[in-house]
Amino acid sequence: MPTNEELFDRAQRVIPGGVNSPVRAFRSVGGTPYFVDRGEGAQVWDVEGTRYVDLVQSYGAVILGHAHTSVVKAVQAAAEHGTSFGAPTEREVLLAEAIAERVPSCELIRLVSSGTEATMTAIRVARGFTGRNVVVKFAGNYHGHGDALLAESGSGLASLGLPGSAGVTDAQVAETLVVPYNVVPTLSDATACVIVEPVAANMGLVPPAPGFLEGLRAECDRVGALLVFDEVITGFRVARGGAQALFGVRPDLTTFGKVIGGGLNIGAYGGREDVMSVVAPLGPVYQAGTLSGNPLATAAGLAALEHLDDDAYRTLERTAARLADGLAAAVPGAVAPRVASLVGLFFTASAPVDYVTAKGTDTERYARFFHAMLRRGVALAPGAYEVLFPGLAHTDELVDEVVAAAAVAASESAD
Ligand SMILES: *Cc1c(COP(=O)(O)O)cnc(C)c1O
Repeated sequence: MPTNEELFDRAQRVIPGGVNSPVRAFRSVGGTPYFVDRGEGAQVWDVEGTRYVDLVQSYGAVILGHAHTSVVKAVQAAAEHGTSFGAPTEREVLLAEAIAERVPSCELIRLVSSGTEATMTAIRVARGFTGRNVVVKFAGNYHGHGDALLAESGSGLASLGLPGSAGVTDAQVAETLVVPYNVVPTLSDATACVIVEPVAANMGLVPPAPGFLEGLRAECDRVGALLVFDEVITGFRVARGGAQALFGVRPDLTTFGKVIGGGLNIGAYGGREDVMSVVAPLGPVYQAGTLSGNPLATAAGLAALEHLDDDAYRTLERTAARLADGLAAAVPGAVAPRVASLVGLFFTASAPVDYVTAKGTDTERYARFFHAMLRRGVALAPGAYEVLFPGLAHTDELVDEVVAAAAVAASESAD
């Protein structure tokens, strides 16, 4: 098998930066990415045979752990019956029903192929339904790479130090208003929707301040704008009914991705029946997809959701608390905020509350800590603005291994 170095050299000759998603390139932490050979549960092995306790977990798409038997079996069985048809299938109905049952604000649901497609369409639906143009988003919230939402988007853009993306015209973002997270903006009646990560997880982890989500609901109602929760990360992760169940705020539209595909390509958007009824073929807002509701992705998603019962959420929460408390104690000069099973890690004295304070944390120290952890067999995301994704495969023993590594890595990476 080739080495990581050899593969990365070859990759850079045929793929921009050698990667198919920017943050994987290690640009903000330096060094050569490890190329994954295989994963099992909470662990991955690279092509050189090095083993890591994995806290990336496909940036949250995997919650049961890698190569979980139920998911593997479901995908194998589905593949044997055909991988895509261009005609409806039963599992699309089952998955939409499973989502609607867990998230009551989603009366109608449309499956797509990625989180980006879901958010891109949700704002098109909001504009189509309200007949208004302005979209309000929060600095440091990431909603995929659709043009209108690529402004101060956190995540990979933040770690590359980019405010937005070249190739997005002024016209495409002229009606996107970017405001600070955790402050309820005063909306105009030109506002079609407010889109928000109900728990911000793409500028590190920033919980919503008490009253923030409720305040957004009230302000949207005041001017007749729609409230869109981007639950691509939080959906089916922070609670069975997502962040809207955890915080008791009902949005008009919700976007999903990651967990609902069990590690395969999927996204979904759903919401109020009257709003969703503008979507073609019922209404005039067009959205389509050759691979939408794909047979393998729906099989994997259903298999994953089946395991996510109340017990599973209790286990996730306990594991995440052990990790966050352990890291906070083991790494002087860092804070480890947590919401349910989402954990952040910032090198700073007090936990960030918005994009400005998140960007004020010590990202160079994160880079050194990241490499010190990697040398001790723990894979964190290669960017200071990502979160940690403990899942159902992270046993107490593995969490303790991470925390012990962190104590050593902390002193190695201190300046
Ligand atoms: C990952 C993510 C997206 C985009 O999903 P993709 O499947 O990567 O296109 C959108 N919103 C949030 C909150 C995300 O974390």
